[in-house]
Amino acid sequence: MSHPYKTREGGATVTVFAPYDCGNHCPFCINKGEYADTTGFSEEAIRASIRTMDEITPRCDFVFTGGEPFSKRDSLQRMLDLIPTTHRVFINTTLPLFDGQTEQDIIDFTERNKDKITCINVSRHLVKYVEESPDHLLADLSVPTRVNCVLYKNYPKEQLPDYLERWTRYGIPVQFRFDYTATTPENLYDRESDPILPALNEIAEYKGLDGCRMRCGFHFDYQGLELTYHKTLPYSTIVETDENGVTYDILYDIIIKQNGEIRSDWDETKLDVEKYRRVTFEPYDLKVLEGEL
Ligand code: SF4
Repeated sequence: MSHPYKTREGGATVTVFAPYDCGNHCPFCINKGEYADTTGFSEEAIRASIRTMDEITPRCDFVFTGGEPFSKRDSLQRMLDLIPTTHRVFINTTLPLFDGQTEQDIIDFTERNKDKITCINVSRHLVKYVEESPDHLLADLSVPTRVNCVLYKNYPKEQLPDYLERWTRYGIPVQFRFDYTATTPENLYDRESDPILPALNEIAEYKGLDGCRMRCGFHFDYQGLELTYHKTLPYSTIVETDENGVTYDILYDIIIKQNGEIRSDWDETKLDVEKYRRVTFEPYDLKVLEGEL
């Protein structure tokens, strides 16, 4: 059943799926399959949808993901060009190098777009699932960088200290991520059964917790390095009835698919664009719940 939309002040985060694949096969990837058949993928349709979302929520966050946004820099540039600097822009990437893309090309790209890109989140996992460009490249970029690391199933926790040393050298913050396909409303904030928190508590200093209905972050300090352990639910809409008895679909993420289709969740639910133009805004419920962050 469909309800009126509600979202946070500024608008739901808009995640754009680049219409190009990556060269990797991470075991936890749920997007890879979509890139097997590229029929209907359209940068032009994606650009039209970016314009629509900018028009409705001119201050929302944009996230580019994939696939691999850096598979085609010129395409990524055209999409970025449509996004005014009123938005924060994040790019999830592995920073791939190939014939036609050198380290310097990527550095120059970040230099050209440094007023636009808020942060580049680079996937570097404890187990080497992705083809990796050199670590120093992350430090050489002209924009802030963060490392994202999925701690999947029986991850090798004895490798955590070495892994963290790798990034401490460059002062690049690390975000560990729980496998979100295994996150539920029951285990989102649960510390007892969590398979990762004890390992982090052993090696780093706990600083505090922030979170909302949809996601949370446990913050740590590892020898001066900022560490976060992030958990998020595998969907992006929460249905809730307010104190006046009105039930809303509360949207956290809006997704622009590779064919330009705009969805209100990670499944196939389409966003009712006209309804979203009348969205009710609420204060962002992401709050510091423990510590001083
Ligand atoms: S790099 Fe990203 S898109 Fe590619 S397989 Fe891994 S998780 Fe999936």
